[in-house]
Amino acid sequence: MLGVMVEALIQATGVRVSYGQHEAVRGIDLTVYDGEIVAVLGTNGAGKTTLLECLEGLRAPTSGDIRLLGHDPFVHRAETRPAMGIMLQEGGFAGDLTVRETAQLWRAVNTGAGDVDAALEEMGLDHRAAVPVKQLSGGERRRLDVVLAALKRPRILFLDEPTTGLDPESRADAWAVIGSLRAAGATIVLTTHYLEEAERLADRIVILHEGVIAAAGTVAEVVARERASIRFRCPTSAILPPLRGEVRRAAVSPNQSVVEESPAGEDTVVVRTDAPQQDLLSVLLWAEEHGIDLADLRATPATLEDIFAAVVSSARSRAEAEAEAEAS
Ligand code: ATP
Repeated sequence: MLGVMVEALIQATGVRVSYGQHEAVRGIDLTVYDGEIVAVLGTNGAGKTTLLECLEGLRAPTSGDIRLLGHDPFVHRAETRPAMGIMLQEGGFAGDLTVRETAQLWRAVNTGAGDVDAALEEMGLDHRAAVPVKQLSGGERRRLDVVLAALKRPRILFLDEPTTGLDPESRADAWAVIGSLRAAGATIVLTTHYLEEAERLADRIVILHEGVIAAAGTVAEVVARERASIRFRCPTSAILPPLRGEVRRAAVSPNQSVVEESPAGEDTVVVRTDAPQQDLLSVLLWAEEHGIDLADLRATPATLEDIFAAVVSSARSRAEAEAEAEAS
């Protein structure tokens, strides 16, 4: 990539948004480059939608600066709106209009919009073209939202939870469509609740928690910061102490590998580890030595839940440390 300059299409600096006393976005810096897909993930109420609305120019930040193609998207709509595709949320259209009529209406108000029937076919909605929007299932409605946002082949596409409520097959279709939009040159910012979706689509992810960016990078980078886990079921926890010793020896750094037992009543053991290969070997040797049958043995990288749990717990420790420092 030596010597290749990639243009920054969106640049947000120090963005803050308050709703009355509540500060929902608390100082976000974000740059989105030409041709990339950035996925915004977050805990509940983290500020994803608020941030997206600011980037789309639907809401002015309380303070900070946003540039989209060099312009403030809230103030300079004429310069920014034609380049943007925004995924509409529920309630944007009359339910009595059919799917095709809705897409045609949307096409009429969006200069440069493409062929309606081809777009419906691409998202597997062609057989529903004559059905009133109000009769669509949640998943079909979601797919129509993606069709409408992408109809004019915008340079920058904002998708708010594009696959929430879709079944696995429709989700795969949506991923294919999003991938082909990017291949055609679109830059995409999406929010999602699924790490798998971010993994499939996004070049970079940004994880929000309480209005700030708690983690950012490629999915692999963010996942690698948290410990992997080895899970299995075994009949009794009484035999675990030797395993604890083995795992501690394999740990890359002290206290990084721990053996956790699931709550009473279940017999699942979880080894959280920064050295999965060594610890898996420890587990297997330990089981062999003690004649233990490991049921449902799995070794997996950190899940989104693990990442969120780490984000929440480090934010909590930081807040406690700050409160303590203030009190003393
Ligand atoms: P979720 O994933 O749960 O949809 P989110 O990350 O999209 O959440 P936002 O919808 O941006 O988060 O909301 C951030 C915070 O601001 C939340 O605490 C929410 O309750 C609050 N909030 C959002 N919109 C308003 C509003 N119009 N007035 C007051 N508070 C609001």
